[in-house]
Amino acid sequence: MSEIKNHQHALVTGGAGFIGSNLVDSLLASGWEVTVLDNFDPFYNPLLKRENISRHLDHPAYTLIEGDIRDTELLDQLGDFDVIVHLAAKAGVRPSIQNPTEYQDVNVKGTQNMLEFARKKQIQQFVFASSSSVYGISPNVPWRESDAVLQPISPYASTKVSGELLGHVYSHLYGIRFIGLRFFTVFGPRQRPDLAIHKFVENMIHQKSIPVYGDGSTRRDYTFVGDIVQGIVKAMHYQDSPYQVFNLANGSPVYLLDMIRHLEEELGIKALIDWLPEQPGDVPQTVADISLASQHLGYSPETSFREGVKKFSEWKNTLSRQPR
Ligand code: NAD
Repeated sequence: MSEIKNHQHALVTGGAGFIGSNLVDSLLASGWEVTVLDNFDPFYNPLLKRENISRHLDHPAYTLIEGDIRDTELLDQLGDFDVIVHLAAKAGVRPSIQNPTEYQDVNVKGTQNMLEFARKKQIQQFVFASSSSVYGISPNVPWRESDAVLQPISPYASTKVSGELLGHVYSHLYGIRFIGLRFFTVFGPRQRPDLAIHKFVENMIHQKSIPVYGDGSTRRDYTFVGDIVQGIVKAMHYQDSPYQVFNLANGSPVYLLDMIRHLEEELGIKALIDWLPEQPGDVPQTVADISLASQHLGYSPETSFREGVKKFSEWKNTLSRQPR
């Protein structure tokens, strides 16, 4: 079985974002040539994305293309790649309820465009950022890849199901190997400011209350970004099957109130909680079975929740004046 060698060239869509820029750090360090396609979408402050890529720009193996995955004329002008890692998307469950059409446009049509690009250029390896949200509110935890994912409860989740389905079509018709990675609540350095841990830390540092929706009994399989990067890189080398989805998670869910307690201990600050009603689209729990990724990718998460929170808050401390 031939392995993809590290001197090959990856196209990373969304490579200026939270997960993408952490992935690019790792790829450049291990000898990949990397082209990033990102439109610096204003979903959150694009200055944060400029900061994420600031150390990539001078790297001789790095190219940045500022553009949109919906721009097919731009895609037609791009060169050849060995692997596509398609991370660009409108992220976030709650905002997708406010703006479902744009989520559909970027996440579904954009994914279709990237698959068409792979077909035209005969790029054989396509790694796709899917999400734990595809499991909806299924009470049968831990969630396995063999579970049916036909009952998403937010526009965002439905776009990720659609992406996996499109991937199956292209894998079947054109032999493009499609690996859908279902990320479970990712956190760590450069985390999106809209996500709970980042938002909570930001508010706690500034003595502001933190919004807690529901009674605090929700739980999440928080996964450190370094572990997600490990799983993505392994998927870039995966050769066994023409189509596969994998859960990428930690495997140890944390209750919301425990998460807050960890943050209080790490920061030495008592949280002021603003109790709010449950939000539509939110799921009560995410719990993954990661045995498939462990068996077939050799995926093995290494960072505990507590260590991850420490690394996140160290990163937060290094930013003297962060753009908001
Ligand atoms: P992010 O918003 O930080 O990164 C996404 C990047 O895509 C951004 O840099 C954005 O500018 C870019 N982008 C958006 N629309 C684009 C377009 N039309 N054309 C080109 N670029 C575009 O988000 P993230 O948290 O790093 O998420 C990366 C991927 O992982 C997304 O597909 C997201 O849905 C998925 N995911 C994330 C999590 C998580 O917990 N962070 C969980 C599950 C799945």
